[in-house]
Amino acid sequence: MISVEEAFRTILAHVRPLGAERVALAEAVGRVLTEDVVSPICIPPFDNSAMDGYAVRVEDLAGATELDPVPLKVLGEVAAGAATVPAVEPGAAVRIMTGAPIPAGTEAVIMREETREFEDRIEALATPEPGEHIRLAGEDVERGEVVFKAGHALTPAALGVLASLGIAEVSVHRRPRVAILGTGDELVPLGQPLGPGQIHDSSAVALETLVAMLGAAPTRLGIARDNLGELRDKIARASGFDVLLTTGGVSVGDHDLVKQVLAELGELNVWRVAMQPGKPLAFGHIDETVVFGLPGNPVSSLVAFEVFVRPALRRLQGHRVLEKPRFQATLLQPIVKTQARRQYLRAVVACDRGSFSVVLTGPQGSHQLTSVARANALLILPEGEKRYLPGDKATFFFLDGAEACL
Ligand code: AMP
Ligand code: MG
Repeated sequence: MISVEEAFRTILAHVRPLGAERVALAEAVGRVLTEDVVSPICIPPFDNSAMDGYAVRVEDLAGATELDPVPLKVLGEVAAGAATVPAVEPGAAVRIMTGAPIPAGTEAVIMREETREFEDRIEALATPEPGEHIRLAGEDVERGEVVFKAGHALTPAALGVLASLGIAEVSVHRRPRVAILGTGDELVPLGQPLGPGQIHDSSAVALETLVAMLGAAPTRLGIARDNLGELRDKIARASGFDVLLTTGGVSVGDHDLVKQVLAELGELNVWRVAMQPGKPLAFGHIDETVVFGLPGNPVSSLVAFEVFVRPALRRLQGHRVLEKPRFQATLLQPIVKTQARRQYLRAVVACDRGSFSVVLTGPQGSHQLTSVARANALLILPEGEKRYLPGDKATFFFLDGAEACL
């Protein structure tokens, strides 16, 4: 038996970020830059108004108050997008809109609310500070500045910044291509009726979705029967993929031939990992393809995905933060942990005035996929037997999409 940490370290030691490709911004969200982005311009590109108001010369308005207003002649108007902007002489102002370029000669914008407006003149009721309500060129981004470093993961806001710089394409790590293969004589694809002794291949659907949600590109290779010929044939179809995920056939049953075929075609470790669920796990590679032989039980395969495959897929994509953030919750029920292995229990976390509380989703059998489907989090109970009481703290991480369930 090996520890979760040891399996994790070995897996990550064998996974390196994939190469680069140039993509349009619409393709880039969640992806990781392979090179620094240097700003070709400054943002804002020009001094502009932060308010609707009047561009003024500050010295004209010395001492202006509501009781002692200063009259100014209004020379005209400058709106956002204006290409030509009037210069302003002493005793005058220009009506200006938010985002419009600041006229030469003015040093501040006075808000409309601080004026009385007449046909072609105003009375200023306050004295602005120099620079008031002016957004200076380069205030947000300087020209030549490294805006995002290589390794930066692009959020929607980051894409907005790139668009503001006029950058339409970026160089990012390629998406991992992930092949998914179910194995077992009992498995039937969705859409086909179940015969005696048969079950639907449920894991493939869940795994495919998880892979896609992570920003990798899943491909289903279907189902291989439990015989060497079919396993060899279907596993060979994973050639050219970055990752192969198989389910089933890695434990100690007579028909667990997957590990045999994987070992024949590539290099493989078969582990008994000190965790529950997810104990049997095969990991290795066939040529350049990283291979995970996940357990057959659907809960076990999903938990092994969360613990081992997700961090590996994130590293392939160039991410540096590989694991989900862990939080602490207060148990609302007792849990008796009767075994030494680390446990990942399916749980519902609620947030009450900023602190998390947690209950289990009910029966926790590795075959009971509803235990995951009804959960929004996985609770991690560390190695060792222990009686947990209501009020005790436990560590958890959220499952994908869980914020929507809080
Ligand atoms: P195995 O490790 O192949 O012995 O599989 C363990 C258990 O998981 C058995 O009950 C299988 O029927 C079940 N199983 C294997 N693969 C899948 C799958 N893709 N979807 C649902 N159940 C599966
Ligand atoms: Mg099987």
